[in-house]
Amino acid sequence: MAATKNDRKGREVLAGTLFVVSAPSGAGKTTLCRKLLKKDKRLRLSVSYTTRQPRKGERNNIDYTFVTKPLFIKMIERGEFAEWAVVHGNHYGTSVKRLRQLTGAGHDILLDIDIRGALQIRKNYENAVFIFILPPSLKVLKERLLGRGTDLRDVIAERLDNAKAEIAYYKDYDYVIINDSLDRAFRDLESVVLSMRLRASMISESWVRTSFNMRK
Ligand code: ADP
Ligand code: 5GP
Repeated sequence: MAATKNDRKGREVLAGTLFVVSAPSGAGKTTLCRKLLKKDKRLRLSVSYTTRQPRKGERNNIDYTFVTKPLFIKMIERGEFAEWAVVHGNHYGTSVKRLRQLTGAGHDILLDIDIRGALQIRKNYENAVFIFILPPSLKVLKERLLGRGTDLRDVIAERLDNAKAEIAYYKDYDYVIINDSLDRAFRDLESVVLSMRLRASMISESWVRTSFNMRK
């Protein structure tokens, strides 16, 4: 593996951009992220490690890499995670190696992680953008959680309670997308990705020099 580059703050500089997306459960994060991954061929999902049990239909190494808690703890000790957190009683973490491999192969990466994980990425990586997805209201959030039909009523009540605390963190993010109309929210998400790619710092200096016949 090639040596890693770091900025003046000691944060790792990856070859691609990390798009970090967080949201209270039920806001529509999965729906929006899936749509984006399908359309944007340069983007790849960071497949997280987790100690939780696979749900019906989930595939190992595609949705998550499912591991035991002792193995997860070993991975923490070996410094293999770019970030990790305990969410709803289970461990979740992003692999450093996967981030380097994917960006090294020319991809940008979508990270679907919780708020604590996002704050760690902010501290450890230079080229990361933070996007928070909000539902239009608490009432709509409840309707979506009920409509999704994947959670029991007491789980939904707990998620709604958590949502209020989580929403307070929107200020730690760079962009907030309100998922009212799905089409509009998706356009907003695509616009964030596009605007990141158009930043002057993303343009290859050697391409500019060669294309415009400029001396060093
Ligand atoms: P999350 O991943 O944030 O928990 P989901 O993507 O699973 O949320 O969305 C929760 C539910 O709301 C799903 O049933 C989904 O189809 C629905 N949903 C998502 N976005 C919208 C939207 N803009 N309008 C109406 N329903 C939506
Ligand atoms: P679920 O188990 O429902 O797929 O995910 C539960 C929560 O864990 C979601 O909020 C999701 O964003 C978060 N999560 C998934 N993978 C990671 C990860 O690698 N790190 C962190 N910090 N959170 C994660």
